[in-house]
Amino acid sequence: MGIVWDINIERPEFPQLTSNLEADLVVVGLGGSGLTALLHAAQRGLNVIGIDSDRIAAGAAGRNGGLLLAGIADFHHNVRKDFGVDRATALYQHTLDEMDRIEATTPEAVSRIGALRIGELNRGEDAEELIDTYAHRDALLADGFPVKDYEGEQGVGILIPSDGTFHPAKRAVLLANLATKAGAQIFTHSPAIKIESGLVTTEHGSIKAKHIVVAVDGNLGKALPEIADQVQPTRLQMISTAPETKIKMQYAVYVRQGWDYWQQLPDGRIAIGGGRDLALEQEATDLVEPTQIIRDYLEHKLEDLGVTAPIEHHWAAIVSYTNKGLPIVKEVQPSVWAVGAYCGTGNVVGALLARSAVDHCLDGHSQVIADFAS
Ligand SMILES: Cc1cc2nc3c(=O)[nH]c(=O)nc-3n(C[C@H](O)[C@H](O)[C@H](O)COP(=O)(O)OP(=O)(O)OC[C@H]3O[C@@H](n4cnc5c(N)ncnc54)[C@H](O)[C@@H]3O)c2cc1C
Repeated sequence: MGIVWDINIERPEFPQLTSNLEADLVVVGLGGSGLTALLHAAQRGLNVIGIDSDRIAAGAAGRNGGLLLAGIADFHHNVRKDFGVDRATALYQHTLDEMDRIEATTPEAVSRIGALRIGELNRGEDAEELIDTYAHRDALLADGFPVKDYEGEQGVGILIPSDGTFHPAKRAVLLANLATKAGAQIFTHSPAIKIESGLVTTEHGSIKAKHIVVAVDGNLGKALPEIADQVQPTRLQMISTAPETKIKMQYAVYVRQGWDYWQQLPDGRIAIGGGRDLALEQEATDLVEPTQIIRDYLEHKLEDLGVTAPIEHHWAAIVSYTNKGLPIVKEVQPSVWAVGAYCGTGNVVGALLARSAVDHCLDGHSQVIADFAS
């Protein structure tokens, strides 16, 4: 049924890799993370090449909910409990800094008006969720991060004013254009079939390079079998409606511990995702086909929100999870960096870690990686 993000977006065409090339650095996977690394490496003066097995942002990076949220996948109060206040604060601050860079690099694709964590959609509905929402707020306040109480048309909860939304496909196209202007080369429809120190091999060509950054989130275990046992490929699904004229939702929202999330786009369409907890085993898969059970759930959720516009799109994409809830950012062979497994929220963390892997290749150190590495 297609995806909402393809409406009115032309993705540029790039050639397939059909020869043997050399570069300083190769980026494998051109979603939001890989494209950020590509642009950053070109801006740092490297001869850099990016390859994708499909078109740019063919995976989750071009098919997601469009929420730009600070922090890692779990909420700040839980991250403090799991990893300590200092580390939780450092991780949160790194993601806030990356959101500033995302906004500065592609302002046309970004809206940082804040996003809501809603504890109660209807008064008295879920006391526990609201209590947890306020614990989340209190932890952010204690560490000096922006957050406000929210009570309004979209429910009761908290507004994180530094969060926001972006257009995933538009941002990918802008990043690809900026990267090629900065001197990067891009090849699409060129899957990496072997990745080893110093060499990436595709079906019809290869690239010799001192440094390799592999940014394929959902496909990480397949691209780098040495870490397959550390990542769980997982399907996430969304639907979107035709323009809804009777309802105006100012903010993007997430509810139920982040299981469900939605936003109204500037043209009135509503994009909603979630419901994975309904079918956890079924969704622990790398099969990209969407399913009826999740579609039915999301349709009911829209009905509860009073949305009557018809469904236009239903799609899925694959991400990876880790056991600990921390992403993977690891040198898996000499100067081969794996970045991914953002546990469902990789729009900000993916860009941050892929950029930082480039810095580590060049400088031999990255404070971001030191803070994230588990
Ligand atoms: C439905 C859904 C909703 C989501 N909502 C949000 C959200 O609102 N906020 C948020 O922060 N995160 C969200 N996420 C997660 C987020 O989309 C991903 O974590 C993030 O986009 C990952 O980006 P990436 O560039 O690292 O990887 P990917 O998007 O997975 O990109 C990988 C790229 O690598 C290519 N590739 C794969 N294997 C190879 C290979 N062997 N050789 C060459 N290329 C290869 C693919 O074609 C793809 O283009 C959502 C994900 C989904 C699926």
